[in-house]
Formats: sequence, C-alpha cells, structure tokens
Amino acid sequence: MADFENVQPDEYKLLGRNYTAGRPWGITGVTIHHMAGDLDADACNRVWRGAGTSAHYSVDRNGKIVQHVNDTDRAWACGDGVGVNSGGNDRSISIEHANCGANPWLVHDAAIESGAHLTAALCRYYKLGRPEWMKNVFPHKHWKATACPGELAGSQNAKYMRRAQEWYDAMTAGTSAPAPAPQPQPQPQPSGKPLGKVNVRYALRNLNGSWNAEVTNFGGGEDGFAGVPNGRHDLLYAKVDKGMLRYRAHTIEDGWLDWVTKGDPADTVNGCAGVPGHTIDGVQCYYVTPDGYAYQQAWYRTQTTARAGWLGACCDDGDSVSGYDGWAGMLGEPLDRLQIGIGASNPF
Ligand SMILES: [Zn+2]
Repeated sequence: MADFENVQPDEYKLLGRNYTAGRPWGITGVTIHHMAGDLDADACNRVWRGAGTSAHYSVDRNGKIVQHVNDTDRAWACGDGVGVNSGGNDRSISIEHANCGANPWLVHDAAIESGAHLTAALCRYYKLGRPEWMKNVFPHKHWKATACPGELAGSQNAKYMRRAQEWYDAMTAGTSAPAPAPQPQPQPQPSGKPLGKVNVRYALRNLNGSWNAEVTNFGGGEDGFAGVPNGRHDLLYAKVDKGMLRYRAHTIEDGWLDWVTKGDPADTVNGCAGVPGHTIDGVQCYYVTPDGYAYQQAWYRTQTTARAGWLGACCDDGDSVSGYDGWAGMLGEPLDRLQIGIGASNPF
C-alpha cells in the first residue's frame, strides 16, 4: 500500500538511467501521461530502456504505484528538453497510467483512482496547491505535440481531476478518505467528427542518390512498400493529404535526427528525414489529427537487411511508453523496406 502522506510508492523499481540529477528549478507541477499500452512496471522499464525515456511513476491496471525515477531528479518524459527550465521535464513530476483501450485511449478505473490520489498527494507534499487542470496538473501534450495522455485529457479528465481534488481535500482535512469513487461510467465514444481516409505518400532513397517509387499507403495492397529488398537507404520523405505527419530517421552514423513535417524529395534538408550517404536503421512517425476530428494515428513497420519478415508494427510517438516499440527498425541493421498508413486502428 502506498504511503500517500509521505508520497511513498507501493514499490521502487528505479530505472537507473535516462534521467537528469537534481531539481535546479524546483517542482511546480504534475504531468499526466498514458502508457499507450496496458503495461506493468517491468514492461515500462523495458520500453524506456529501449527508447531512452523514463517517468517518475507508473500506475498499472490494478492501481499499483511504482517509482522509477526519484522526485528529486528529472525524468525524460515530456519531450520539452532538460536543463532549459522546461515546464515538463525540468519542473514537473510525470505519472504514467495503464490503458484499457486503444481507440480511444481509455485508462483503467483503478489507475485513475490511484493516479488521482497520487496527484493529490504530490500537490500536497510539494505545496503546489489544490489540483487544478492546466494550473498545477498538466497533460503531456501541453508540453509537446503528442496524443498523450489520450482520454485522461478528454472524456476521463473530469473524473480524474474530481478524484484528485477530493483526495486533496480529504488529506488536507486530515480525514482518511473521501467518499468512494462513483461507479464506472459507460464507455465514451471517440470525440470529434470523422476525418475520413487520410492518404500518406512516401518513398525511400538509395545510397547512390536514386529514389525508389513513391508508395501511397501500402501501395494498393499489403505487399506494397517503400524501399528495395536488401537495399540501404539514406533519405525518407512522407506527406499526408490531411492533417500533418511528423517523422524522423535514425541513421547508423548519426543516431536520431531532427523531426521533419514537410515531404519533398527535392528538398533534402527540410523535406526529407536522413542524411545523404548515411544508412537509415530506424524511423519514427507521428500523425497530428486536425482539431475537431476523431483521432487517427500513423501505423508503420519495417524490415531490415539482416532478417526476414516484418518487424512489429508501431504507432505514433515513442516518447511516451508504448505497447508498441515507439519507433520502427532495428538499430544497427539497415532498414530496407517501410510501410506507413494513417488510421484509427492497427491495419497490419
Ligand atoms: Zn506522455
């Protein structure tokens, strides 16, 4: 049982990496995340080790609270930089919550109840005031463009914040607990009007400077892909006909490169991901749904020259914990084939 008075978790499973020591700007808020998956603490640590990210706490489907990075250190959770007085990484405490559904991204009731209690305890312990959305409790997407924290910033937000305030009031008054949480509500429908089919067009360039054929979605079928079997590729461009696609490449020579939002093979600086002559071994994509429309994501997968068959599919951003890998590829192995599609659910 967590000790909320002293903000002690149920258990410590410190990641031991992917964090920055100290709090030079103090603690001024709590950042709410969803895992983009239904993970436990060990799975979170595995994903974070691979992705070079972290968070202070995970709250699993049963409401169990595990600490991964100490409050007195800065987790790499919000994508808004560290050492720059950022509101997310530098100044907030990040809590990850386990999902019970992916479309939309709903969070388990037990994770909401426990996470809201933890949020209240942190606000009290660090004297941040009564929990208020966008005042001392923030969604990850406030700090950086991301789908995180899904419905915790949507249909489940009112419930989460109401419980955080009820727990805060009870703790401050010295009573043991607020009234029991209300019974689960019916599953909300995805918000926003339907966007319809979003087409993505993309291509990979060979190391010799020649572009392979542009593919639309999956090239008209599941067998369609960008790239060439056993080829090495140095540039990728991708563009969508609605909304915006952010994408970036990892190369064997350079690591992760900057995000790109424009797709233009003639503009190798701002219109493509990659570096001429360097070998791409990883790709990450993130689809930004236009405001007011039902949420869609980028789904993508790759093959490498080193092994047969498609690697596991990925969706959207890997800076939050993901049930998928968060990016596609196998570092160190040249990426030879790529498929991308935009949609509400996994097309693979
Ligand atoms: Zn997040």
